[in-house]
Amino acid sequence: MANRKPPVLVSACLLGEPVRYDGGHKRHAWLVERLLPEITMVAVCPEVGIGLGVPRPPIQLVESETGVRARGVEDPGLDVTDTLNAYGRQQAHDWLCGAILKSRSPSCGLGTTPLFDADGHETGLGSGLFAASLQAALPGLPCIDEAGLDDPEQRERWLEAVRARHRMLGDVGR
Ligand code: SF4
Repeated sequence: MANRKPPVLVSACLLGEPVRYDGGHKRHAWLVERLLPEITMVAVCPEVGIGLGVPRPPIQLVESETGVRARGVEDPGLDVTDTLNAYGRQQAHDWLCGAILKSRSPSCGLGTTPLFDADGHETGLGSGLFAASLQAALPGLPCIDEAGLDDPEQRERWLEAVRARHRMLGDVGR
């Protein structure tokens, strides 16, 4: 896929789209006002993408004998682990040059998402299942969250990695 600007997957709520479980968003001003002109934006909300809709029951990450699972906060019978994992693999296009993901989300978080035990006690931090699947499918993909974008040094390193991947993919495509 030839693109003049690097294609970057972005958590849709960071763009101001009202896709959060409660119908809200988490618009990030620098991303929307400064970065968007430099990238080809690929907006994704994994929870909407797997059909949960807006509004929807909130989910959380629960440690179980079969690994970390994404389950309903109020209804543990709601389990979207497999669909979120599959959606992450489905969205892992090899032409992507980077990803900007929402922190602390059970779908999008990059090592910042609270993990819970079966009794609801917080046990640590992990990655959202969509983010983990995306990274597993595209191991070299430069990923950052909105907290990273707020750090000028971190976002400049990320941007340079995105540009380098864009050059590399362009070279491969020639
Ligand atoms: S964090 Fe991810 S799953 Fe949650 S609303 Fe934003 S894009 Fe959707």
